[in-house]
Formats: sequence, structure tokens, C-alpha cells
Amino acid sequence: MYHELPNCGDVPLVADVSSCFLSQPLDVERYGLIYAGAQKNAGAAGVTVAIVRDNLIADDPAFAQTPQYLNLKTQAAKGSMLNTPNTFGIYVCGKVFHWVEQTGGLAAMAERNWAKANLLYDLLENSKLFHGTAQTDSRSIANVTFRTGDADLDAAFVAGAAEHQIQNVKGHRLVGGMRASVYNAVTMEDVQALASYMKDFEAQHSLSPRSN
Ligand SMILES: *Cc1c(COP(=O)(O)O)cnc(C)c1O
Repeated sequence: MYHELPNCGDVPLVADVSSCFLSQPLDVERYGLIYAGAQKNAGAAGVTVAIVRDNLIADDPAFAQTPQYLNLKTQAAKGSMLNTPNTFGIYVCGKVFHWVEQTGGLAAMAERNWAKANLLYDLLENSKLFHGTAQTDSRSIANVTFRTGDADLDAAFVAGAAEHQIQNVKGHRLVGGMRASVYNAVTMEDVQALASYMKDFEAQHSLSPRSN
């Protein structure tokens, strides 16, 4: 995860911020275009947010072949309602926007989300079984990745997690290991449940490392 934005001079900064959208403050003015799928932090799948600087909404012949609903100029002219949009999905996003405001805004979200992620990062730093895979200065606020170093143990951990109602901790299919997502809807109690399962698993497997 980038903790500082690259300085790209006059070249507009274009970013897909799906995983941390609404989970921390965002310096909107520094971007030319911000893209975010709503499904992680902001609402239901099927809504995509695009925040685009006015001067990038161009009437360019290069866009002649672009389907209308993906054409920023057409969408902007129609207030993002060229055709009937995903009304229920947008309604759910609105509910989440209000919840974020009532919870203290994006600064409070960041504090809450870092507290969840850091609970896991601290555990990983002190663990003899698990180790975090992200470099300390590149750690993500949204996805905490870790592994045991043993593919069979990783698989046992993922299977055991499901029995504790902890879902989807299997890592990305390209990198393996584990990935705990701590998006906005995940509570501190949820993360504590994962941490407690990790500690139990570690205690169990440091006694007899290859059992199970
Ligand atoms: C998760 C993510 C996606 C893809 O989301 P899907 O739910 O797989 O469609 C795209 N970009 C970023 C930055 C993401 O974090």
C-alpha cells in the first residue's frame, strides 16, 4: 500500500482505491481520477464510484468507440444517471455515507481501521508461527497478509478458521498464505476473534508442529 502519493508533476494521478475507499481520509485534489468499487467499504457490489477532475472529462474522438455508460462526459452530463442506475446499491451507499459521518468521519474510520489492522500486525510481530508478508512501511490498512511458511499448515489454518465462522482468510490465489480483510464493516470484535483463533492455533502447533 502507498502511504505517500507519488509526485507525478503535470501528469494526472489515476488510482484504483477500491480497497481503502472511505476507510481513511483521501486527498482528493491530488488525483486526476479516482476509481473505487463500492463492494469493500462503501456498500453493495454493483456500484462504482468515479471522481474525475473536470478538465479530464474530455470530448475526445478517441472515446468515439467507448460505450455510452462508460463515457465520463456523457455520464457527467446526465448526473451519473444516463440510464436507470443501480438504485438499491446507491441507496445502500448513502446509508454507509451517513454511518461514516455519524461515526466521526474518515479520520475516525482511519483510527478504527488501523486499530483493527495493528492488532493483527502486532500479533504477527510477536508470533513464532505466523509472519506478516508486507514490509513494515508498506502495510495495508485493509488487508493483513501472513503465512506460516508451510502450505499444509496454512491450509489447516484456513479450514479451522471456517469452523470458527471466520471466512475468506485464504490468501490471494496467486500468492497463497492468508489474507485477513478488515474493511469498514468488520468490527474490532471480529478481528479479536481472529486474533484469538490465531493464538490458539499457534499454541496448538508449536507443541507438535506437523500434527493436524
Ligand atoms: C478488490 C480490488 C479490486 C477488485 O474487486 P473485485 O471485488 O474482485 O471485483 C480492484 N481493484 C482494487 C484496488 C481492489 O482492491
